[in-house]
Amino acid sequence: MLIAMGEFDLIARYFKRPVKRAALGVGDDCALLLPKADTHIAISSDMLVQGRHFFADADPRALGHKALAVNLSDLAACGARPLAFTLALALPEVNEPWLAAFSQGLLALADAFECELIGGDTTGGPLNICITVFGEVPLVHGKSLALLRSGAQSGDDLYVSGTLGDARLALDALQGKLTLPAELLAAARQRLEQPSPRVALGLALRGVASAAIDVSDGLLGDLQHILESSAVGATVEADIAASLVAASALFIRATGQLGINLRVQQWRALALAGGDDYELLFTAAPNQRAAVAAAAQASQTAVTRIGRIDETPGLRLTDQHGQQLPNTYASFDHFA
Ligand code: ADP
Ligand code: MG
Repeated sequence: MLIAMGEFDLIARYFKRPVKRAALGVGDDCALLLPKADTHIAISSDMLVQGRHFFADADPRALGHKALAVNLSDLAACGARPLAFTLALALPEVNEPWLAAFSQGLLALADAFECELIGGDTTGGPLNICITVFGEVPLVHGKSLALLRSGAQSGDDLYVSGTLGDARLALDALQGKLTLPAELLAAARQRLEQPSPRVALGLALRGVASAAIDVSDGLLGDLQHILESSAVGATVEADIAASLVAASALFIRATGQLGINLRVQQWRALALAGGDDYELLFTAAPNQRAAVAAAAQASQTAVTRIGRIDETPGLRLTDQHGQQLPNTYASFDHFA
């Protein structure tokens, strides 16, 4: 139920679209999905709350993109193919330019991943965006190909996709904690506001990775979930992870120095505990190295080996000389 413009006009104008894959989309009491034989439906929800996940003046197009992207990232982490999603929206007012931009950002990403909007709910209230995504994972001989957090084995390699820490760098800059050169801020801000869900990589890693998770809260915190679910430990090469902060690489290349007055520990902290990266963190047996490289190639996604899974429980960090580093990063306040 919503005020003013008419809830149903609003839905019809901005969110109702013809569906091809679902049996029934927006407009009835329920949507209908037609599951394929021998397929699990993977389901995940993520909510974005104003003030907590985004600023009040956030660009609505980017917000539409991000709201779906963070959900698609969960499907990617499970090796699920996007199928459909629902959108539950609380709006403080009916602001048509805002709605138009929001739905454009949202639906452009939905189209890119062939993920159909099939229903939702619309109500008045403080701005709040909750999406539930549905994806498909095949069963082979009755066994699901879903990538889970629980499959890591001692001796496995540990990998991460893409870049780390740039979203956090942008957030810190936007909050006035540091100043970035304009070009660098623009690039980092893109990573914060419009992450690219690693769906193609997740699909390519089915049958290759032993465990996977997407990095939303920070690499070490999310790794901890794999370690707990799999009852193993890990060693992470902190300086390899730190080299994946795109901004740091840019600076080092341009100036031969670390730049923007950040110390080496701060680049490490951005990479290891920054958050909002939406990269895939995964494990695979050493005899799968060629298969991992092939998955990276097939999905055109960079993948870097950043450590290994150990039998000994707990998380160990090493620097570029193999020296052990204290692990203060999970609770590290980068620029305090
Ligand atoms: P009901 O009252 O039966 O729950 P609603 O009146 O809330 O249904 O919604 C009418 C139709 O519009 C439903 O098909 C619902 O899924 C869809 N819908 C409502 N809000 C949204 C939205 N924000 N995005 C997409 N579909 C929506
Ligand atoms: Mg109803």
